[in-house]
Amino acid sequence: MSKKPRPECEKPKLGTMAYKVTQEGATEIPFSHPGFDKNAKYFACVCCDQILFSSSTKYESGSGWPSFFAPISSTVILEREDFDHGMTRTEVSCSKCKGHLGHVFNDGPKPTGLRYCINGVALTAKVSI
Ligand SMILES: [Zn+2]
Repeated sequence: MSKKPRPECEKPKLGTMAYKVTQEGATEIPFSHPGFDKNAKYFACVCCDQILFSSSTKYESGSGWPSFFAPISSTVILEREDFDHGMTRTEVSCSKCKGHLGHVFNDGPKPTGLRYCINGVALTAKVSI
């Protein structure tokens, strides 16, 4: 990704790791994120603050990354085939700022069967909106 980040996505605001993940497509080390506020009801994009996920779709996948079985709406995320690292994966990014969030896999729980495997640093937890 060589595009110039939007002002809200610049490094001083985000910090190094969130910048690397959202703007350069990096992946945080599993189990590295300290976790979110237990009262969090929503998870927003760390760059642009668009609400992406609800706590009602969050589950413990054991992968070491925050996992959700569905986004809050199909319009808030973009999905794209990603052939990096010799694998075919589906990259998930924020529809508003195009920041990289993580990947989606087909091994999630019901009802969707999907696992949105999201970098913790790409999300901001919100108790209310
Ligand atoms: Zn965003």
